[in-house]
Amino acid sequence: MVTEIVPGLFRLSIPMTAGGLGWTTPYVFRGNDGLTLFDCGYGTRGAIEALTEQIGELDGKIADIKRLFVSHAHPDHLGMAKWIKDQAPGCELVMMGSERFTYGQIHHRDPQQAERDSNAWALKHGLDMTIDLKIEDDGPRRWINEERELDKEIEARRRGNSDTATTVEMATRTLGRIEPDVRLHDGDEYSFDGWSLKAVWTPGHTPGHLCIYDPKRKFTFTGDHVLSRITPNVSLASEDEEIGRSPLREFRASLQKVADLDSELGLPAHQDTIADLPKRCLEILEHHDERLDEVYNALGGRISAAEVAENVEWSKPYETFSIFKRRAALGETLSHLQVLVEDGRVRRVELADNRVVWEHV
Ligand SMILES: [Zn+2]
Repeated sequence: MVTEIVPGLFRLSIPMTAGGLGWTTPYVFRGNDGLTLFDCGYGTRGAIEALTEQIGELDGKIADIKRLFVSHAHPDHLGMAKWIKDQAPGCELVMMGSERFTYGQIHHRDPQQAERDSNAWALKHGLDMTIDLKIEDDGPRRWINEERELDKEIEARRRGNSDTATTVEMATRTLGRIEPDVRLHDGDEYSFDGWSLKAVWTPGHTPGHLCIYDPKRKFTFTGDHVLSRITPNVSLASEDEEIGRSPLREFRASLQKVADLDSELGLPAHQDTIADLPKRCLEILEHHDERLDEVYNALGGRISAAEVAENVEWSKPYETFSIFKRRAALGETLSHLQVLVEDGRVRRVELADNRVVWEHV
């Protein structure tokens, strides 16, 4: 479905085959110079067909895409970028310079070693990733497989050969390895075709999340930073723990930053557009204040972050969560515990066996 926001600016709806959000909603700027996109979608067959069709409704072709802004390096936003660049040579990928490409790194390294490291980290925080919960969640697996198929095709076409073994090996190594052509800094201005946009660095959901502000029309493109009905996952990852990064603290500051923009319309990458963006930012801030208290109250004695996650309320009962969802819940709980430590309310204790537990100060 294509919706016109103002003449020359359109909102698309690209289906997501995995995850519960239903659609990614990229924005298209149509100009004399060609097309500019903000976000794309998963690199899956269904998503590609939908994008091609909807760009067609705007009398355009994928090859007309001159630049692609991507809010952050998650597959429902960046997944199709490689395919777009393959179809539209010269298309510039524009992202925030500080973004972290975990998705790519996973495939750069030995995947088995990466999985062992990740499992060891979860176990340190009380979650055993190796137990079979008998709860199915094929979402992540499905899109990874679909993107892998597409990647093989792109590589095969590029190489112009059909040596399957080499192609598969190439695909595994190149999957997710995509580098931005333009790396933005906070406050950078980027102009094209009568549009003058400003980069707003909004770390939290990811370290280099990009929102875009149009000061002339007072539009704010919010990516996943601000959504109309849900709050994005804000997780502490092992890399954050290593460098002492506090994603939730960053997220809260980024919400305030967006609330302070003079916005008349919030244009998110999923769900509905947001008429009162400052109000929505403040609602999400309030939600996390309550969540901090809830996490604090879930502590008793010395317990692991995974036990805290079991004790707080989620949108669905924790017992029904697949292991992937439990991993996400663990990261989310840890980002709250980290802020409680910084606020002097909670203490982090590393035990002799390398496990980490948390207690009230
Ligand atoms: Zn998303």
